[in-house]
Amino acid sequence: MRVTFTPIHRRDKTTAGTIAVLQDVTEQEKLEQSRREFVANVSHELRTPLTTIKSYAEALDDGAMQEKELGERFVGVIRNETERMIRLVTDLLHLSRLDSNQAPLRRQATNVPDMLEEVADRFSFQLRQKSIHAAVQVEAGISTLWLDRDQIDQVLDNLVSNAIKYTMDGGRIEISARKPDAATIAIRVKDTGIGIPQKDLNRIFERFYRVDKARSRNMGGTGLGLSIAREIIKAHGGTIALESEWNEGTTVTFTLPALHEGGGSA
Ligand code: ADP
Repeated sequence: MRVTFTPIHRRDKTTAGTIAVLQDVTEQEKLEQSRREFVANVSHELRTPLTTIKSYAEALDDGAMQEKELGERFVGVIRNETERMIRLVTDLLHLSRLDSNQAPLRRQATNVPDMLEEVADRFSFQLRQKSIHAAVQVEAGISTLWLDRDQIDQVLDNLVSNAIKYTMDGGRIEISARKPDAATIAIRVKDTGIGIPQKDLNRIFERFYRVDKARSRNMGGTGLGLSIAREIIKAHGGTIALESEWNEGTTVTFTLPALHEGGGSA
């Protein structure tokens, strides 16, 4: 709360009274603080790989280049860190386009069962590598939706890649679609992974929020996947929610309005 006092003067310069203005600045301050945090996070996230790249380049310069095996390993580290930075900057640009509404939706008629089968196919290599069984289930009667296929694919890719990252070998992932009511389709990605502790649940969609920073970084994560997913679903007029039980698994459900071509309800 900001309070400003303005004295009211009579013609003879004596004070007749004071106007007090009470201004609620909590929202504004909160916004300002989250902007500051965001800039600090971005700087930190970019500085970490840059520092690594610098020190490995110096080590190469100092002689590591002469030893073939060591040299190759160091170049590999530099390449990995560079790729992570590219992913991070790409995610940041995407978020900023979503924030400023510069990513208009390009809706197209999309067959939901095919879309879900295709996301599972895209990850078949990683799934096989970790012996994770993936099942796709679509409730009868769900076929075509009017949505931005590229953007929803990105949401699905983020959710399924998280599910794989945070599930142990031999686990199970379910990708399913159902119709809770005539106007809504709910798509769910459920895993039997490590889960998320209760205390972290309400912050999980925040930009850069990660339960375990080191682990996420080792897995190649940017900490922006869920925030991007939330913005894309919001732009579609839907909602996204995450439920999780530590050591049991995680379920992310997003809803989309059941629109048909032209924008009307199906
Ligand atoms: P990241 O790039 O780190 O995966 P996300 O925004 O996609 O970033 O996710 C934020 C954090 O939420 C992750 O770092 C991880 O701690 C947690 N998380 C997301 N999905 C899952 C999941 N399926 N199981 C367990 N933890 C998850």
